[in-house]
Amino acid sequence: MESVLSIKDLTKVYGKFSVLKGVTLDIPKGSIFGLVGRNGAGKTTLMRIVTGLAEPTSGSYSLSGISSTDKKILSVRRRMGSIIESPAIYRNLSAYDNVKLQYINLGMTSYDSIPELLELVDLQGTGKKKAGKFSLGMRQRLGIAVALCGNPDILILDEPINGLDPQGIIQMREILLKINHERHTTILISSHILEELSKLATHYAFIEKGEILQTLSSHDLMSKVRKASRLVVTSTELLCPLFDREGIEYKVENEETVDIFSDISATRIIALANEAGVEVVSISDNNESLEGYFMNLVAKKDGIV
Ligand code: ATP
Repeated sequence: MESVLSIKDLTKVYGKFSVLKGVTLDIPKGSIFGLVGRNGAGKTTLMRIVTGLAEPTSGSYSLSGISSTDKKILSVRRRMGSIIESPAIYRNLSAYDNVKLQYINLGMTSYDSIPELLELVDLQGTGKKKAGKFSLGMRQRLGIAVALCGNPDILILDEPINGLDPQGIIQMREILLKINHERHTTILISSHILEELSKLATHYAFIEKGEILQTLSSHDLMSKVRKASRLVVTSTELLCPLFDREGIEYKVENEETVDIFSDISATRIIALANEAGVEVVSISDNNESLEGYFMNLVAKKDGIV
């Protein structure tokens, strides 16, 4: 698949501290690529490097096929829009004037498309109101409008959902999906909450302590998230030896509750319970959460599991 952004063996060292350790990533054209990592994992540093705000210690990246070591990267970077840390907006200007200023910066001479752009981010009708009086969500959306000026191939957004209320999160998600579907803009978006990205991302990379732990498509993620049945019984102590005997994967939660990860029927569970002289109180779905999947990956890296 064609990549808009290709990152190769990127490292960043501050003093003795390695913030990025050989990061290699391909961001497919048309994707919404979720970069997921805990606070301090290196997400912002990676985004600062590919947007030209910081230099890598070693390694390189290419944007639309142009290498970061090529002088042409400066002009290709104009095909990229971003919000890193906070949106680049002027608080004393209206939404319209913020966007217009960016048009001027980019050398665009027609402002006809500004109302359409403001409508795309749900800021139509804000009139003369200054951005300083906007809510956080409105400021973030204005930042996206500014980043979209010049119709970039890729939008790079550092934790754009951070701090938004549930309504603001839904609104942001819908806008990003609209941008991706209607404008075919590739989006690289970071978050420390996988669940938040799961409703829009098509691909993921998990980053921890400057290293990419895993990259996968959302389809593969969903099939990897472990399916479990939660069993409430009168005694897990009596039942689990039978699970061991049968090679059934399980995790005991407490004396009466156990999660079974193997794909086995309720009839077989009940038969084993009968054999153990244990009563089954209930069987229900208890699929692993996305957050659980991510934390499990991190724990594996730390050698905890
Ligand atoms: P957060 O969600 O908290 O912003 P992050 O994944 O974006 O986390 P980064 O901001 O990239 O993480 O920071 C990664 C690590 O690099 C952190 O430990 C941070 O303290 C360190 N770091 C970042 N910038 C610098 C700098 N200029 N000098 C020294 N250390 C830095």
